[in-house]
Amino acid sequence: MPTVAFLGLGAIGRPMAACLANAPGITLSVWNRTAAKAASFAAKHGVRHAATPADAVQDADVVFTCLAISADVESLLDGPAGMLGAMKSGSVLVDCTSGDPATSRIIAARLGEKGIRFLDAPVSGGVKGAETASLTVMVGGDESTLAEVQPVIETFAQKVVHCGPVGSGDAVKAGNQALLAIHIWSAGEVLMALAKAGVKPETALEVINASSGRSNSSMNLFPERVIGRKFPRTFRLALLDKDIGIAAVMSRELKVPTPLIQLTADLMRVAHNALGEEADHVEAVKVIEQWSGQVIE
Ligand code: NDP
Repeated sequence: MPTVAFLGLGAIGRPMAACLANAPGITLSVWNRTAAKAASFAAKHGVRHAATPADAVQDADVVFTCLAISADVESLLDGPAGMLGAMKSGSVLVDCTSGDPATSRIIAARLGEKGIRFLDAPVSGGVKGAETASLTVMVGGDESTLAEVQPVIETFAQKVVHCGPVGSGDAVKAGNQALLAIHIWSAGEVLMALAKAGVKPETALEVINASSGRSNSSMNLFPERVIGRKFPRTFRLALLDKDIGIAAVMSRELKVPTPLIQLTADLMRVAHNALGEEADHVEAVKVIEQWSGQVIE
């Protein structure tokens, strides 16, 4: 098994890295911008806490990054502490950030000049999926490179899908996230209208979840988070705003008319601005509640 580095121990990066730490035979180094998080992770899992990105990747065969946006990954390439000067020729950078295709292509080209391979490999399944090593990974890049690193990816994934050339993993992820945002917002509107019509959300969901209007939002997110007002913070609304923004820009660039995606991207921006950086994505329904003067319960 290879030597591995993991950079970015955020909400989802941490449990993904824990899967790698627990996999037999993998030698793992971790790095995080806020060093205290990497220090506590390293102490808990008995892995190496690297001082810089360069230190983390220097011996690695496979490097994972899981940062907020692609520009954050690109920012870790340069300088004496950067990854570009330290990664071995022949090694692979697997970027699990939900990134944007254009920046991923730039990163891949810059790494390629040094003989380093790149896969964009965003994940879905949430923090729960990472904790249970059951994530879905959508991968852009060379298929034989994926075949080489797939056993390492499978330490945290149940399903790995090759989507096409570099950038196509990001593109598929952005599409999925556009659907997620649309489903949350539209379920919120429907349940609010039904609440005003005198139907309890639990009753409405019981019907919808046995009917053709159901989605992961109606089946899982609303019952677990909105009904009962729990709103656990597992995936920041700021990141969903970023994700559907990628889908909106991508479809504009491709000259595909996508009025629903453009509108929902604006609604996510409204919700993000109103609720702040730390709000969870499902909290977007609170904007519908503010507009309507009552909560969905
Ligand atoms: P978090 O906001 O919890 O963590 C972000 C991570 O990126 C932190 O480790 C943070 O470091 C690091 N980071 C941010 N900016 C920089 C920078 N400029 N330089 C170096 N490091 C940086 O995000 P998540 O872990 O939730 O998400 C990570 C990625 O995975 C995102 O692209 C997200 O869209 C995606 N994702 C998240 C899911 C979830 O359920 N949470 C599900 C599927 C995909 P620091 O600790 O110092 O702030």
